[in-house]
Amino acid sequence: MSDYAGTYDVVVVGGGGTGLMAAWSAARNGASAVVLEKGEHIGGTTGMSVGTLTATDTRLQRSAGIKDNADWHFEDMAKFAGPLANRDNLQLRRLLVDNARETIDILESLGVVFMGPLPEPPHRFPRMHAIIPHSRGFVRQLEKACRKEGASIRTQAQVQKLLADNGRVTGVALQGGETVTARRAVILASGDFSSAGVDYKSKYMSGPLLDISGINPLSTGDGQRMGEEIGGQVINGDLAWGPEIRFRAPPNPSIISKLPPWPLLARLILKGMKIVPDKLMRPFLLGFVTTFLAPSHQLFQKGAMLVNLDGVRFCDELNRPQDHIGKQSDKSAWIVFGSEVAEQFRAYPNFISTAPGVGYADLTDYEKTRPDVVCKAATMVELAQKMGVGADVLKSSVQEFNASRTPEDGRAAIEAGPFYALGPVLSWIVFSEGGLKVDERLRVIGGDGEPVPGLYAAGSAGQGGVLLEGHGHHLSWAFTSGRLAGAHAASDS
Ligand SMILES: Cc1cc2nc3c(=O)[nH]c(=O)nc-3n(C[C@H](O)[C@H](O)[C@H](O)COP(=O)(O)OP(=O)(O)OC[C@H]3O[C@@H](n4cnc5c(N)ncnc54)[C@H](O)[C@@H]3O)c2cc1C
Repeated sequence: MSDYAGTYDVVVVGGGGTGLMAAWSAARNGASAVVLEKGEHIGGTTGMSVGTLTATDTRLQRSAGIKDNADWHFEDMAKFAGPLANRDNLQLRRLLVDNARETIDILESLGVVFMGPLPEPPHRFPRMHAIIPHSRGFVRQLEKACRKEGASIRTQAQVQKLLADNGRVTGVALQGGETVTARRAVILASGDFSSAGVDYKSKYMSGPLLDISGINPLSTGDGQRMGEEIGGQVINGDLAWGPEIRFRAPPNPSIISKLPPWPLLARLILKGMKIVPDKLMRPFLLGFVTTFLAPSHQLFQKGAMLVNLDGVRFCDELNRPQDHIGKQSDKSAWIVFGSEVAEQFRAYPNFISTAPGVGYADLTDYEKTRPDVVCKAATMVELAQKMGVGADVLKSSVQEFNASRTPEDGRAAIEAGPFYALGPVLSWIVFSEGGLKVDERLRVIGGDGEPVPGLYAAGSAGQGGVLLEGHGHHLSWAFTSGRLAGAHAASDS
């Protein structure tokens, strides 16, 4: 609660997973706190995510008989980093692995229900915890928890500027001129910059990342920009998850995403998953796999072609096709193949999309659950009609594709029907990795190498150069860094 209008101990910029956790944590530690969210709803990218968190020594790991620890997690994270390893922030990696378990414990105590742990090599043990039924559960339970602790949440409150006095951050200015004062600290929890304008993105990124935008249009890097204005520095700004090819969202939400995120329902689903045969659970999981996940590049390796919305082939499908879609009209394309590829993708081991340990979807599953992205036709002329492209153009693209194959690449020709087109697909930045440089207390580090008094950053905005490769580390970082930033900010003086 605010002591008087517009003044709080802790002001949190952004109402995604990081910001909600930060406000809860600040309030829990005795501070008055407010979350300022620019969107109409809270949730951010967190509420759009698949919803996995990776951690060790959790209740679920222990009940699965797994003896694991933070040291091994620390070591295994390095195996995901590959050639980027020397760009990692080891202090923040340590902070993450040491605190992720408590984050999961807290989320569970607030009513979040997880399944797992799920395996993801090269992790030596299953460590991934997946929320049931979907990631809006984080948002709902944290919102309730914030209100219970007395933290305020405001939507449609876009923060434009940090206010400072004598080098200390003292609050924020909102669009429209209103100011909100922070007695102790401001926490930037405003997400990544995948959807920022080219002007900002080109400070750090180059090439195809500049042609495409992020999955969350509100991820415009406001926190990074405001932090830089006050002397902060963005680390690993050139790194992003993407470009990645994905289908458009379905016109109607999947069965899973329509489920209310009630803890009781989540527990019933979890029970059901243990006792209901896989065959019955599969249609339920499929809605998720065909809605949120990217089509596998295996399709291209086996003989699928990419054409743009005019039916013209525009790239070598075996050489980072995702980099070329952003330059096509509507930044969109179709994946086209014949019966030989279709038959292969109807059965193990070829899947159009997979979520490690959760589920997989083949062509038959896509026909059932995503008819909006599947065109099937007996002839190339009929396929062209269904795609809305010229038949002659499509035929000549197919000829060009067939001629481009080599005996070494082993790709099937597109020659026998039925023919298929999946799409349109777009190329996206799933999220960018560049966040403000922070210390182990999540304080933003200024140009002089010292913490900027009164300013913290967490989640994507405060990623600080820690590499979060693999699945489940970004959300673990978001909630863990938010939680720690909230606690430190509550006692900042
Ligand atoms: C499709 C998808 C699936 C994913 N799945 C996973 C997964 O399963 N596991 C995993 O670990 N990671 C996953 N991620 C990544 C993960 O979701 C993000 O890294 C994480 O949610 C970032 O949290 P955040 O709180 O920092 O940002 P966000 O959740 O985006 O929250 C930031 C909030 O700040 C608000 N904001 C921005 N600017 C301002 C401003 N000026 N004023 C006020 N408010 C502002 C935004 O509107 C937003 O609500 C996924 C990402 C995507 C896109």
